[in-house]
Amino acid sequence: MKKIYLIPIYILCVSLIFSPLNFLLAADKVDLAGYAMSRLSGLSFGLFNQDQNQSEELILLDGDISEEFSLLSPGAPFGPNLIKNPSLETAGLLSGLPEFWSHGSWDKNNPVPSYPVSGFDEERAVRIDIDKYVGGDSKWYFEDVEIAAGKHYLFSDSFKSTIPSVLTARFLLADNTYRYFDVANLPASFIWQTASQMITAPYNAKSLTIFHSIRGNGSLTTDNFSLREIPVSGGFSQGFVSLDFDDGWALTYKNALPILNKAGLKSTQSIISGSIKDWHYVNKSQILDMQNSGHEIASHTKTHADLTRFSASRVKDEVAGSKKALLSLGVEAINSFVYAHGKYNNQAEEAVKDAGFINARTIDIGYNTKTSNPYLLKSQVIALNTSFDEVKFWIDRAIADKTWVILVFHQIDYSGQTYSATPEMLQQIVDYLVLQNVSVLTNSQGAALLE
Ligand SMILES: [Zn+2]
Repeated sequence: MKKIYLIPIYILCVSLIFSPLNFLLAADKVDLAGYAMSRLSGLSFGLFNQDQNQSEELILLDGDISEEFSLLSPGAPFGPNLIKNPSLETAGLLSGLPEFWSHGSWDKNNPVPSYPVSGFDEERAVRIDIDKYVGGDSKWYFEDVEIAAGKHYLFSDSFKSTIPSVLTARFLLADNTYRYFDVANLPASFIWQTASQMITAPYNAKSLTIFHSIRGNGSLTTDNFSLREIPVSGGFSQGFVSLDFDDGWALTYKNALPILNKAGLKSTQSIISGSIKDWHYVNKSQILDMQNSGHEIASHTKTHADLTRFSASRVKDEVAGSKKALLSLGVEAINSFVYAHGKYNNQAEEAVKDAGFINARTIDIGYNTKTSNPYLLKSQVIALNTSFDEVKFWIDRAIADKTWVILVFHQIDYSGQTYSATPEMLQQIVDYLVLQNVSVLTNSQGAALLE
């Protein structure tokens, strides 16, 4: 039997993705009772070859295959399929197009949409062809379905394509603006495949459609769409929050530490070891003062280096060297690493492990669960334009789902910098955490609870 291995290319880590593209497989790993996807017997996460024996022929993709299973609340059923006319069997009487479906093109590709064409089950499907690609994308898409912010959804469809294709989630927000997220890059396939992706609806989202599109000359046929709410749990005994402050700004020390200390909350302070003599940043005595107040000191490289741009030896120096430098100041332990600019790759991750760190945090947006990779922790970044209501939403979401949300701050001041926040904003968040009696842990305390 022909084996096919497909490797997804991550486009970007999406705020709505709980655990982006850790495609998983292996039907024996989860009880699928209640998983009523009628056309997809067996497990349909990820990508597998439908023309062959599914139980044997699951396609191995990136990531820890156990991760997403553990997010599903045991015993809770999946919701109904939210997409109308999901298999495109019904044509509109006048238009002849599939009811509740549209086709669209961003840029002037002059695509050729076709309907009906022969589908996965020999019934009806849609196809899009491009032979004069100029830019953008072309696709068919289903009428927006109502969703709830913060809830989790599993999308899947069947497809064949002569070129790589892309899944993009388009959310309509409460203020009637759209937010777009590319959520998966899929490889070309001449035989029917299933694409599947878990999506968490962001703050203020009210409806959703998914574009399965092509961005080049080629052809894409799609069928058997499904979008269902899925029950998710982070697997911890309760949800919790971490408060991370990046870069070691002197004004953060001055403005944030008193607020944290007064509330008795312990933060994680990521320090650029090469900047401690620069007056914009905390100095040795301030670092030790933070440690003595119970805050965790984390490494944020020596020079705030984008580790994806350097040789192995330079990466090692930035990672292990920063740890050594911080320890030499008298910091007792350096267990947590924070990628500068949020940038990482395999080489950077290995360097972090080799230097003895027990966890590392990214700025990939999302929530962490018990089975998250401790070296690729996700977070929610607070910028100047982030509202308190959105931060409250993230905290409430983590508590409801028993996940771990890491809130990332930079300067706490009145500079008006994009990634700054005011002391009043921090105070409001801290007050809320205290009022709600939310468990606040440092990064290494949180990482210690991972499996
Ligand atoms: Zn930074």
